[in-house]
Amino acid sequence: GLVALGLAMSLTACSGGRGSDSSDSGDNDGALIGVAMPTKVSERWIADGDAVKADLEKAGYEVDLEYANNDIPTQVKQISNMITRGAKVLIIASIDGGSLSDQLDAAAKAGIKVISYDRLLTGSKNVDYYVSFDNFKVGVQQGTSLLQGLGVVDASGKPTGKKGPFNVELFAGSSDDNNAHLFYDGAMSVLKPYIDDKTLVVRSGQTAFNQIAILRWDPATAKARMQNLIAKSYSGGAVVDGVLSPYDGLSLGILSAVTGAGYGTGGKKLPVVTGQDAEVPSLKSILAGQQYSTIFKDTRKLGHQAATMTDDLLNGKEPEVNDTKTYDNKVKVVPSYLFPPVVITKENVQSEVIASGYHTQAELDK
Ligand code: BGC
Repeated sequence: GLVALGLAMSLTACSGGRGSDSSDSGDNDGALIGVAMPTKVSERWIADGDAVKADLEKAGYEVDLEYANNDIPTQVKQISNMITRGAKVLIIASIDGGSLSDQLDAAAKAGIKVISYDRLLTGSKNVDYYVSFDNFKVGVQQGTSLLQGLGVVDASGKPTGKKGPFNVELFAGSSDDNNAHLFYDGAMSVLKPYIDDKTLVVRSGQTAFNQIAILRWDPATAKARMQNLIAKSYSGGAVVDGVLSPYDGLSLGILSAVTGAGYGTGGKKLPVVTGQDAEVPSLKSILAGQQYSTIFKDTRKLGHQAATMTDDLLNGKEPEVNDTKTYDNKVKVVPSYLFPPVVITKENVQSEVIASGYHTQAELDK
């Protein structure tokens, strides 16, 4: 199993295969692992699915990888099927973190372990482990990056004394995704003092999570909301200087709305727009001087960790965690393994995203 893989990987910097391990008990060799992903609309989830599948297959497991088109009933059905097919472990990136409790109960009854992948499964005791990034920190980085783009704080995050006022608008993710709340809380922990002292002005007045959340992280909804904000709150010459956006797909929707309203030409500067996931279209936009920043979360590491945890679980080994306090799913605190997110601007696309092989130069040149 992955005991061998983990060793091979640490010796060969993630290029190793499984190797032969005659000490394997053999019981779970070739076992079926169910991997449930939310959508193929965003390329990050394709990368996640590919990474988990490749690592599990290298370790000799059979993988049922399913994408649910952002449709909750579809995901419910897919997970039920995995249980029926006799999966030994479920790795789940949910659409709605609270909607799978029946399936999680069924899994627990059948002795199937559940790893909550990137997004926390909430409201159920039948969640064994969580692999993700430090999601509050993602929000802090997004908020800080917005301030940096506006020049309110410097590269080290210290106030420059620049007081604006700057007009900003805020966007949050899908309310049924636990991460969306953490991104918002993290960002607001940084932005709130500057909103309070009027360095930042939210002309729409929409700052509460429920006012700014975008259901299912849908780019078209974000674009429509941005168009509305411009029409209602920016008539008569006021301009948008910055937009907090929690995900690259939304960022591009927002940028499309502002360019449609004449920003980016004739002296009307594009607002500073943040993002997340280091997706190719956004990296291109960043390099072209449009989107300001994104957050790089290396899905290869996340996938590998989920595969390693799976293998540990099936070999009677306690999976390694590095956080046992943060992720309370309303029923239990789920033991977690968290990776650090990295802010990307045009300065470090090369050194972080390309040099690590996460994306190739050719993909950006296409
Ligand atoms: C993920 C983000 C992603 C968002 C939209 C969140 O749960 O953590 O990386 O941008 O979903 O897919």
